[in-house]
Amino acid sequence: MTGVVQGVGFRPFVYGLAERYRLGGFVLNDGAGVVIEAEGEARSLNDFGLALASEAPALARVDEVSATPVSPRGESDFTIAESAATGRTALIPPDIATCDECLRELFDPADRRYRYPFVNCTQCGPRFTIVERVPYDRPNTTMAGFPLCVDCRREYEDPADRRFHAEPIACPVCGPQLSMSLDDAIDLLRGGAILAVKGLGGYHLACDAANEEAVAQLRGRKHREDKPFALMTKRPELLADIGPEEDELLRSRERPIVLVKRRTDAPVAHSVAPGVPWLGVMLPYTPLHHLLAEDFGGVLVLTSGNRSDEPIAYEDGEAEERLAHIADAFLAHDRPVHRRCEDSVVRAAFPLRRSRGFVPTALALPVPAARPIIAAGSELKATFCIARGNEAFLSAHLGDLDTELAYRAFLTDLRLYVDMLGVDPRVIAHDLHPEYLATKWALEQEAELIGVQHHHAHAAACLAEHGEVGPALALVFDGTGYGTDGTLWGGELLRCDLGSFERIAHLDPVPLPGGEAAIREPWRIAAMHLELSGLPVPFERWEVVRESLKVNAPLSSGMGRLFDAVAALLGVRNEVTYEGQAAIELESLAGEVEARPYPWVFGRGAELVALVYADLADGRAGVEIAAAFHETVAAAAAAACADAAEPRTVVLSGGSFQNLRLLASTRRHLDELGFRVLSHRRVPPNDGGISYGQAAVAARTIHF
Ligand code: ZN
Ligand code: ZN
Ligand code: FE
Repeated sequence: MTGVVQGVGFRPFVYGLAERYRLGGFVLNDGAGVVIEAEGEARSLNDFGLALASEAPALARVDEVSATPVSPRGESDFTIAESAATGRTALIPPDIATCDECLRELFDPADRRYRYPFVNCTQCGPRFTIVERVPYDRPNTTMAGFPLCVDCRREYEDPADRRFHAEPIACPVCGPQLSMSLDDAIDLLRGGAILAVKGLGGYHLACDAANEEAVAQLRGRKHREDKPFALMTKRPELLADIGPEEDELLRSRERPIVLVKRRTDAPVAHSVAPGVPWLGVMLPYTPLHHLLAEDFGGVLVLTSGNRSDEPIAYEDGEAEERLAHIADAFLAHDRPVHRRCEDSVVRAAFPLRRSRGFVPTALALPVPAARPIIAAGSELKATFCIARGNEAFLSAHLGDLDTELAYRAFLTDLRLYVDMLGVDPRVIAHDLHPEYLATKWALEQEAELIGVQHHHAHAAACLAEHGEVGPALALVFDGTGYGTDGTLWGGELLRCDLGSFERIAHLDPVPLPGGEAAIREPWRIAAMHLELSGLPVPFERWEVVRESLKVNAPLSSGMGRLFDAVAALLGVRNEVTYEGQAAIELESLAGEVEARPYPWVFGRGAELVALVYADLADGRAGVEIAAAFHETVAAAAAAACADAAEPRTVVLSGGSFQNLRLLASTRRHLDELGFRVLSHRRVPPNDGGISYGQAAVAARTIHF
């Protein structure tokens, strides 16, 4: 049997069934999955086979069962045999939040694991982050250094125990220990200190979310000015009005950070998430988090242990060094983290970051890869993706690949995935941007190279996650992506399928005065648009900055830049400290205010900016203008699809569609025009989904 059948209590389950049907034989994990040999009466064998499929444990996913008859050996006992390390293709399960049974033990004073921060069982605990090699057995994990005590061994070997072959099994006698007492940690947090806390896939930085001074200090030390911090609490309902879908996501075994609408009376410091109406909230997902949340009582900031956009620190020595100037103290432990894995971030509608809890679970591909493929991904929110047959293994979030640390993470994680999947890919798909480190890496490999245009990859990701190959129209709106003509694209209407695309309409390219500087300072883009429209430019520094047009002004048709221009004009923001900030705050400003669209035809951004400018001069309220702007982009984009007419399916992708108002409004207009609309559900619409799209395009492109 293959699939996710290791580390999920599958062998004990098989053992139980064999007992029930009085069969002899054995079950073992091998590199490819689970092997069962059973003998007994024909009828019992048949029932056993049926029960294997129908009663499998909750966390198991059986992909394939194959059976071959063997001659009876006269065995009457059934055993769980030692693993055979042949082949290397077994899938490792993701890390899973502490289950209810283990939680009950954690807070039961009579239990031998009372308040033990590493309690786990076959249904919960660390998996992906502690596995060093397949098959998934204790000696192949970072728990290898913790020999079982007598009690744990008894549980581990007792087929009737719920910890039978729970590989990370541990207790206070034999398992990992904290480096600091929890009481001390709580005292520090209450006193406003910043604590580095070792979690599943790396270190977090924690502080009291209600303490304005502590949060501000964390921002200063982490070099993170405005980007919202994630929060951990047992009572999310105090922070936000939680819908049923959000509640389900919060409590799911993946336990992602869920973006929820902030309550005005949420008991957290303003600086936790300045300028946005959303809070990123998660429930405790390890026993250590449960103990911290319980003892602390209030809400904790729990953000990745890193500086701004670097990958999360996960090795102890590395963490001590990198976080020494940020954290006042370390709440660590002696169970090594083998793989970095950041928290996942989701909205009710789609993921923004698909990481801990989801990886390394495969996504499906609509076209199987004839040979294994590495898709190298993008630069920001980097991920890579390995395709093997019908499966696409989208990596954990790596951070922005423009730092040395992130690039090293890319290389080491890639190696781990290749080992885990037992493949030797000779096909590499990559972005066309010559300056992306992932592209440079790809071009250095001896492999069959497949360059995939950035926005085609976005569109392909959306098609592929819906199991489709096209053809379709695709509205792909984002900040930046390298076009086939060497300019920056990002306000695109494509006609495409997985194999190819055609650029049908796009925003007019606008020079970015000063290049990268214009992306950090949206007012420059507002000024540029006004000048293109022949309007007066109200920004003082324009006279000087204008000179940069002669030396450094790459052309961009990015939708993100149009949002930047309008945000700057409305006084939302002249400078940004994180990617997408101006657009996010413009969306907040628009809120749910109703407004009619401007009469604008998709294409000339400067004309739309001029309409906004005229309204502003007339004294119309900023909220109304922001709302009208959103409606205009949506209506005009849908009208452009109507002009293109065929095909009748439109996919929506790219980072700009993280904007819920833009997404909902565009979808509504397209619905009204009779189009079928596909948007992301499993893969991020932002650049975190690019590698999956590249893999889908490459799978469609290569032949045997
Ligand atoms: Zn459990
Ligand atoms: Zn023990
Ligand atoms: Fe993009």
